[in-house]
Amino acid sequence: MQHDDEVLQFNSVQEFQSRPLFHTALVAAAEDLEKIVGKYLLPEPRMAWICCGLNNCDQPHRRGYIVRLRDGRETNCGHNCGSNHFGVKWEELEAAAAKTETAAATRKSVEAILAQKQALLDRANSLISSCAKFEYKVLMVNALLLQHTTLWRHIKECAKLDGAVRIEVALPSNSINYTYGSKGALKTVATIDGIRLLTEDFIKYSNVISKSVIPELNSWSATELEGKSQKELAAYSQRGQAFIGTLNRAEKQLQTSHLLFRKGNLEKIKLIVQYKMRSREKTSSLLKDVDAVVAIESIVAP
Ligand SMILES: [Zn+2]
Repeated sequence: MQHDDEVLQFNSVQEFQSRPLFHTALVAAAEDLEKIVGKYLLPEPRMAWICCGLNNCDQPHRRGYIVRLRDGRETNCGHNCGSNHFGVKWEELEAAAAKTETAAATRKSVEAILAQKQALLDRANSLISSCAKFEYKVLMVNALLLQHTTLWRHIKECAKLDGAVRIEVALPSNSINYTYGSKGALKTVATIDGIRLLTEDFIKYSNVISKSVIPELNSWSATELEGKSQKELAAYSQRGQAFIGTLNRAEKQLQTSHLLFRKGNLEKIKLIVQYKMRSREKTSSLLKDVDAVVAIESIVAP
């Protein structure tokens, strides 16, 4: 991959003044312009700025462009000067520079992913095995809980409250917070960490990673990417970013799974049963399944 075609970024006057064909002042017509070589952004104090070198403009500017003429000579101009001096021609140059910048950013992004290919594959493989262990447990817990409609409704409600198990408590008669029509105040008696994994957020990342991330990442190589068009490279870059996003989300889900299956966490479901369910709803099969759910936290997946 070529690195020649880039819009350079300069942060000091010395950086571009030291270029061999740089001139502090030039006179040029629109047709003499070849391209924007780079951009400069100078430090805040005005004494660090440089006067525009184009067509005797001579105004100091903090930011602007380094422009190259067809004969190879270069000078600097303020960020609005090119447009003021050259109009439409300058817009063409700016559009070309923007295209170059986009292409360079895409190339860098693809190269960066290629450079960490092995590290990403290692990370993906280790995520597959650790995610699979938790996925297995989540599916087992769900299979048990889904059989009990009322309990499941309470679990979903609890998940919506970020795991809070809230019960109604009677208000003291002299409470200043008393509101008419309310039977009592709500009090959080426990928080079930990671319970959203059971009701909405769960994704089988072991599948996603083994079926999409790993096979495609495996196919990435410098030879495969060579000669690809800008559009194709942009698609690679997008997919590469998506893979990294998937791995990050899988890691996050893994952390939440750790919380969900932390000792004593699922046991708090018993509080839901105790406080939120009517006696006739607490069937022996429900109590048995809740016990089974609690026991799952200590199971080691095959
Ligand atoms: Zn100027």
